[in-house]
Amino acid sequence: MSKRDYYEILEVSRTATEQELKSAYRRLAVRYHPDKNPGDAEAENRFKEAAEAYSVLSDSEQRQRYDRFGHAGVSSGSGAGNWGAQGFGGIEDILGDLFGFGDVFGARAGGAAGQRRSAAQRGADLRYDLEITLEEAASGMTAQLRLPRLEACEVCKGSGAAEGTEPETCSTCNGAGQVRYQQGFFSVARTCGTCRGTGRIIKTPCENCKGAGRIERERTMEVKVPAGVETGSRLRIAGEGEGGVQNGAAGDLYVVIHVSEHEQFERQGSNLYSSVPVAFTQAALGAEISVKTLDGAQSLKIPAGTQTGTVFRLRGQGMTALGNRGRGDLFISVTVITPTTLTREQRRLLEQLAEVETHELEDKGLMDKVRDIFG
Ligand SMILES: [Zn+2]
Ligand SMILES: [Zn+2]
Repeated sequence: MSKRDYYEILEVSRTATEQELKSAYRRLAVRYHPDKNPGDAEAENRFKEAAEAYSVLSDSEQRQRYDRFGHAGVSSGSGAGNWGAQGFGGIEDILGDLFGFGDVFGARAGGAAGQRRSAAQRGADLRYDLEITLEEAASGMTAQLRLPRLEACEVCKGSGAAEGTEPETCSTCNGAGQVRYQQGFFSVARTCGTCRGTGRIIKTPCENCKGAGRIERERTMEVKVPAGVETGSRLRIAGEGEGGVQNGAAGDLYVVIHVSEHEQFERQGSNLYSSVPVAFTQAALGAEISVKTLDGAQSLKIPAGTQTGTVFRLRGQGMTALGNRGRGDLFISVTVITPTTLTREQRRLLEQLAEVETHELEDKGLMDKVRDIFG
């Protein structure tokens, strides 16, 4: 799965200003937001894609690296337990200061326009890049993740207000988070400056979280990786992303799988490919050789007259297909090795063979000779 260019995703030029990026992202986020496109996986993907693109390009340092190195410059790279810095930005964070959330996603705020909206905000989705071996991908595994994330503060339950107190409704906007101006026939809404759009004022901040409502914690958790995953497979773990603000729901955690290169096997779907060297005498006379499979060494009979490039197929010795749909095959291609050093005895025998071949060549055509020796 190749990743699309971030500028292309946001439909902006490479010289787009911060403000252009922001409005491009806002436009796409509104169009593809899951709340507005329930059950539409394509829209959800577009939404996540735009969020990822924006989270990178809106950070000037990451944007520079992306401009120079592309996706490789901003992906969190390899290494198990590497923390992906580009957690999908919460839409509320980005839209919150642009306009009242309740106006765009009326359904979520749960009321008609003008009604008091909830200050609750869903936590951001997080991304965790997990590198596993081919063997682990074949058998499935349980991974231990160490995950730093923002969690709702347990002292104030995410409200940000000190124990025994509660956030007060902002008196400037009456808790709406925005102030309306009448301009002729139109009513124009602006984010309330007093509460910065939250609709609430915290007079005495919670000491534990300094009024933020959330605290950074490092969590250890186990995640079951099913057999058959491949690079790019994403596991969604609901509710294990960042904690929400003001009793908002937690975001989701996405574990993105990277299967490391294997020294022996190359994978294509559920099939595996490898090669094995055989001595030219084994190839000529036929032999039983030992080959590596995912399940260990196994013997393979090669017939007399085997050529370099001959491929043997071991059914059911490939990768497990995702969803327990059996296993693919293992294809082993043979490389015939010509000896580079010979003992005196070997040289004597080969010279004898060469002599027989030369005599035969005198009697027959070249093609017949080849057929006799190798056929
Ligand atoms: Zn707190
Ligand atoms: Zn206010």
